[in-house]
Amino acid sequence: MSESPESLAFTSLALKAPLLEGLAALDYREMTPIQAATLPSILDGSDLIGQGKTGSGKTAAFGLGVLSALDVASFDVQGLVLCPTRELADQVAEELRRLARRLPNVKILSLCGGAPIGPQLNSLAHGAHVVVGTPGRIEDHLRKGALDLSRLRALVLDEADRMLEMGFKETLEAIVAATPASRQTLLFSATYGEAVKPVAERMLKTPRIVEVESTH
Ligand code: ADP
Ligand code: MG
Repeated sequence: MSESPESLAFTSLALKAPLLEGLAALDYREMTPIQAATLPSILDGSDLIGQGKTGSGKTAAFGLGVLSALDVASFDVQGLVLCPTRELADQVAEELRRLARRLPNVKILSLCGGAPIGPQLNSLAHGAHVVVGTPGRIEDHLRKGALDLSRLRALVLDEADRMLEMGFKETLEAIVAATPASRQTLLFSATYGEAVKPVAERMLKTPRIVEVESTH
């Protein structure tokens, strides 16, 4: 009797065919609540704060936004996702690669601390469309002049509360200062209290705030 409402179908969004094919290959049949609540604004290019529990599907929400904004013909870094730990960054990079697998020639690089910097410099020299990384290592690459964020379209702060708890506030500010003011900024956090709010207010432009409690 109850069919999923039209609004939960990924096909109700303005997504390129290769991204819809990627979602079908992943067997993502309908949007999770946070995806349904955030994707229309994300795909419009709006800044957004998403607050949702672990496991609610935030990665695909911002991932589809970042991948939709790419001009694959240009080899500038156009998407940057910052995560608190190497493990989380690697998971996000993997999910982005899965979502992008029907989108030809998209290069997604994971740049995290705890790994040697030499091979990362070499990978960056070959160009990338999307970089996923931990704040300290991304700042190292900026200082070395190896990472150019001047053409960035979308910046994602994933698990922003954890990054701030870990003492990355100044590092995040230095990274944001290297990006164009015209960027879209998406901030995801399990909590949105006094630690996150002032930072979000400086980094985001009239963001929508979406809070979703339930997981799928
Ligand atoms: P969060 O970042 O909110 O903690 P994730 O993005 O890691 O959550 O997603 C949690 C799990 O849900 C992952 O295993 C992911 O593959 C799965 N998932 C995400 N979106 C969907 C969807 N629309 N349909 C089915 N599974 C999904
Ligand atoms: Mg997550």
